[in-house]
Amino acid sequence: MPSDSEAANPLAIMEYISTRGGAAPLDFEQVTLAGLAGDGGLYVPSHWPKLAEGDIADMASLSYSEVAVRVMKPFVGDVLSEGELRDLCDKAYGRFAHKAVTPLVQLDGQHWLLELFHGPTLAFKDVALQLLGLLFEKFLARQDKHLTVVGATSGDTGSAAIDALAGREKVDIFMLHPDGRISDVQRRQMTTVLAPNVHNIAINGSFDDAQAMVKRMFADEQVMDRFAISAVNSINWARLMAQIVYYFYAASRLGAPHRKVAFSVPTGNFGDVFAGYVAAQMGLPVERLVVATNVNDILHRALRKGDYSADTVTPTAAPSMDIQISSNFERLLFDLEGRDGAKTAARMKAFEESRDMQIAPEMLEKAAAIFTSERVDPDSMTLAMSQAQEDSGQVIDPHTAIGLSAARSADIDPSVPIVTLATAHPAKFRDAVERATGMRPALPRRIGDLFDREEACDKLPGDYDAVKAFVTTHATAANG
Ligand SMILES: *Cc1c(COP(=O)(O)O)cnc(C)c1O
Repeated sequence: MPSDSEAANPLAIMEYISTRGGAAPLDFEQVTLAGLAGDGGLYVPSHWPKLAEGDIADMASLSYSEVAVRVMKPFVGDVLSEGELRDLCDKAYGRFAHKAVTPLVQLDGQHWLLELFHGPTLAFKDVALQLLGLLFEKFLARQDKHLTVVGATSGDTGSAAIDALAGREKVDIFMLHPDGRISDVQRRQMTTVLAPNVHNIAINGSFDDAQAMVKRMFADEQVMDRFAISAVNSINWARLMAQIVYYFYAASRLGAPHRKVAFSVPTGNFGDVFAGYVAAQMGLPVERLVVATNVNDILHRALRKGDYSADTVTPTAAPSMDIQISSNFERLLFDLEGRDGAKTAARMKAFEESRDMQIAPEMLEKAAAIFTSERVDPDSMTLAMSQAQEDSGQVIDPHTAIGLSAARSADIDPSVPIVTLATAHPAKFRDAVERATGMRPALPRRIGDLFDREEACDKLPGDYDAVKAFVTTHATAANG
């Protein structure tokens, strides 16, 4: 258990350990540049730092960047000075098209939207990746090292990572996406970035196939020995860290710490909602976290019945949630196991073989203290979109609609405000929005010419060796 003195001393050194207990601890700089831990696990902080009630109360009057520094400093430790961290946050969030960075919009007496899509690529992934790009640049300059980023995207991570890294020195990015399974806006936001350090790869397969190939590359010594390979998926700790901030930002504006707030989170890889869990561990009074899934409902089955068994992926209008294996769930399982790395390793190894895991009732009970889940079918999603428009004049995207529909179904005390995370701009999924509401959202001016730009993309079969050959041919060695 973290001691009280940590609240008074946020500069206490923070170490990062693997969920599978078999990798040496890292500091914040190392964990930012690392991907998966060498033992196949995910890095987590060695303990959850606590913020005092007074610190949370003060946030109500701070800017987004200021809140970001207060929330992230305990995780960064002394790897960056407060001034350096502040500069990076100002730079990252200065690129957002809204002065509040992540504005809250009221829908009715109980429901709010937290608009996370005002960054350069129109989805919440920008909030973390704009900062991560700057952290990479800073740390690579210090270490005089070349980094190769390899990632898989169900649409939004890819464009956000590419925008954050295009043209930056000492880094190449290889981004795999499932061919034909992302929206045309999502694809073009990646393939029209023609910087020479950006490599788009369309894989014949699903997002899970692409993600499995990336995971395999992290365990492939032939690749890892020559290249410094890093991740921009939410397995990267720094990404999750940056997402904790907006839970504090929103809740402090709705009366926290004196009033509890609930959040509904459209969920795929369990990264965004895990950040909400971390906010609660840090002392934010979170009434409930609603894990909203679409028909790809492994997390819903897991949290309701303990059945974490992977099915095949069904493509939907909310492609960023068309995921069956949610990597960050391992971080929660680690906590639910009492932070026992050996037990988590055994559990995950068994799951990797059988694609099936049963979660014990004691563990489920612990999870139920904060998480609830809801599965939203396509009709309810469509209804949420048309209702938001009719009742509150808000045009929302399919992912946000799943979050909002789940927020309305969840059993939450009517006096508690519920914030649904609006994870994408409606223009990013205009076909689906048009089908539901009859309105076709316009692209914001800053990307208005997206469909006139030239595209570049390599198509590869859903085959690990082909992807490995492509990456090793085009990447620069760590010391190159
Ligand atoms: C990535 C994404 C999600 C899912 O977030 P996770 O962190 O993977 O759970 C939801 N909505 C949108 C628009 C996204 O891009």
